[in-house]
Amino acid sequence: MKKFVVLAGLLSVLAGSVQAQQVYLSNYTYEGNNTTIGKVSASGSSSLTNIKVSGPQGNLFRVTKNNELVFKKKPGSETSYEIQIEGQTSAGKITQHFLIIKDTFHKNGVIAHRGAWKHTEASQNSLASLNGAVKLNCYGAEFDVHMSADSALFINHDPHIQGVTIEKSTTDELSVIKLSNGEKIPTLEEYLKAGMKQKGTKLILEIKTSTMGKERSMALTQRVINKVWEMKAQAWVEYIAFDYDVCKKVRALDPFAKVAYLMGDQTPQQLAGDELSGLDYHFKIIQSKENYITEAQKLGLTVNVWTVNDPAVMQWLLERKVDFITTDEPEQLLEIKSKK
Ligand code: MG
Repeated sequence: MKKFVVLAGLLSVLAGSVQAQQVYLSNYTYEGNNTTIGKVSASGSSSLTNIKVSGPQGNLFRVTKNNELVFKKKPGSETSYEIQIEGQTSAGKITQHFLIIKDTFHKNGVIAHRGAWKHTEASQNSLASLNGAVKLNCYGAEFDVHMSADSALFINHDPHIQGVTIEKSTTDELSVIKLSNGEKIPTLEEYLKAGMKQKGTKLILEIKTSTMGKERSMALTQRVINKVWEMKAQAWVEYIAFDYDVCKKVRALDPFAKVAYLMGDQTPQQLAGDELSGLDYHFKIIQSKENYITEAQKLGLTVNVWTVNDPAVMQWLLERKVDFITTDEPEQLLEIKSKK
């Protein structure tokens, strides 16, 4: 029995996680009546042939000869479709489940830093702060992910909470901790599940640098990506990290994920060369290197700026047309944007 449980557990992990041989989709959303979703491919240089779409709503889709996933007809009133894509590589058959959703995400570029908490009763990084950002119609709710001693993923800003070090504690020890608003410290799974109930606010997932060394930061990155794929949350999630190697690992594991670098010590050219999708720098760096904004955008990178709580700085950045602003004051930034 025990062997069976272990095997079943392993199989379920394999089914959801990002494997050496992987089906990729370049995009997971569609707009309005647009019938094209994105390109289907396999990891590495493998070519994918014999591609089939199945799964609960797979019959509504087909893959063109250019490996483009498209709706057979105009999308219906549903806004979420679960499909399975399988194909053949030289190494064998590979298969992956995906959720395709209607793109109803807000386009205001306002990212609530650790959710919306400053003017509510919500704790930072809580499900309530996520829901607060959703209620405000923010483009994104940012949050921070750490890994416990037993490799579970928890949402918190600091490496410790109420005197307990997350990386040195087990799930049992962490799950009894209560945030100031009475919630338990959320797991990544709980957070994603709550975020996936809506399609207006993106989930801006910060992979925290481990305090225990590079290897653990890499292990955390792998687990985060596995969890996002297992939950089919790719359409909602964008990644950010201070550790450049973490950003590069996200890119290696998921060639189409949005991933932006936080530290501020790399030029837009370097980020583009490493195929990251954006920079996400402190406002003082952007103010001193204003040229980064247009240089990055010309290279196809997005520009996000943290953590901007001063209305004058918000104005300055908006005039320079940055893509996103991360703030503890999303209400104020939305108000300023509404007057533009
Ligand atoms: Mg953060």
